[in-house]
Amino acid sequence: MNELYPWQYTIWQQVRGSVALKTHALLLKGRKGIGKLGFARSLAKSLLCTQITVEQIACGVCASCKWFEQETHPNFYLMTPEALIESSGEAGSASSGIDRQEADHTKSGKKPSQYITIEQVRALNDFVYLSGHQDGLKVILIHPAEAMNVASANALLKKLEEPPSHILFILVAHRAQDLLPTIRSRCQHITLPIPDAATARKWLTQQGVEHADICLALSGASPLQAAAFSQQDYFNQHTDFIRKISMPASFDPISLANSLHKLDLPEIVSWLQKWCYDLICVCTIGKIRYHVHQETTIRKLASTADPKLLASFWRNLIMSQQLARHPLNAKLFLEEMLLCYVKVMAPTRYQG
Ligand SMILES: [Zn+2]
Repeated sequence: MNELYPWQYTIWQQVRGSVALKTHALLLKGRKGIGKLGFARSLAKSLLCTQITVEQIACGVCASCKWFEQETHPNFYLMTPEALIESSGEAGSASSGIDRQEADHTKSGKKPSQYITIEQVRALNDFVYLSGHQDGLKVILIHPAEAMNVASANALLKKLEEPPSHILFILVAHRAQDLLPTIRSRCQHITLPIPDAATARKWLTQQGVEHADICLALSGASPLQAAAFSQQDYFNQHTDFIRKISMPASFDPISLANSLHKLDLPEIVSWLQKWCYDLICVCTIGKIRYHVHQETTIRKLASTADPKLLASFWRNLIMSQQLARHPLNAKLFLEEMLLCYVKVMAPTRYQG
C-alpha cells in the first residue's frame, strides 16, 4: 500500500531529500492519473514513520506506519470531496466513479458533493489545535486541491498565512492553475513526472492490464487512468459508446443518452472530447492521439466533416465539461450534446 510508482523514484529522492520540512505547504501538481495521490500518501507516511529506511521510505512496521495503513493515524488528515471518499485512488473518476455514483444515489437519494466544503476546512481546527499524538508533525493532505470552492479556499488561505507549527499541508492538484494565486504562492511547487511510454506499458503489463497499449493511448499516457480504463465494465461501456458515435449517420442520440445518463457525466464528456480531438487532429495535422486502434474509422469520418463546425463543437465541449458537474437534467444534457455532435458529423440527417 502507498508504494511509489517506478517513474517516481528519482523525484522521490529529490523531494524527500530536500523537503526535510523546510516548508509548511507543498503543492504536488501534474496530469491526472500519474500517481500524485499515491506519492503524497507515501510522503506523508514516511514523514510520520518513526523508523525511516535509508531510502527515506516508510518502514511499514512501526506503530505509526500501522496506524497510517489502517487509516487511523491521529496526526494525518485527508481532506477530499465527499464523492471521492470511497474511491481508492486518483484514477477513481473512471470505473469506480461510475459505480460509486450509482450506489450513492441508490443509498441515500442525495448526491455526494464533488467539492471540498468550507465546513471541511473549518473542521481542521480540531485536528490542528486539539487532537494528535504527542507533539509530533501533523500532515494535512488535500486532494484534489482544485475541488475547494472560493469560500473553502479562502478559509484554507488563513491557515496557510499563519501556519500552525508542526503542520505540513500537502496539496495535490491536477489543475494547479485553477487554484487561487494566493494559495499557489504560499506553497513549494513540485511537478510530478509523466512516465515514458515504455515504462508505463511495462507497469501496466505487470498489473495484469489487458489491452495496455489501447488503454494507455485512450488515457492520454496516464498509466493509472489507463488501468482504470481497462476495467471490464468501463472498457465495455466506452467501447460501446465509441462504436455508436462512430456511426453518426445512424446512431440514435436519444437512446444513447438514455443508456448513459446515470454514469459519471464529466467522464462521458471527456470521451467525446478525446474523440473529437482526434477528428480535428486528423483534419489538421493528420495524426491521432487517443484512438490509435480506430485510425481507419476516424480518417473516414474526418474526410467528410467540416473542420470549422468541428472546431466550434469542440470548443463547446470545453464548456460542457464545466457544466457536467452540476447539470439540471443529466439526460437532457447528454441528449443535447449528442444531437449537436450528430448535426456536426451528419448534417444531412436534420435537413428538411
Ligand atoms: Zn514506519
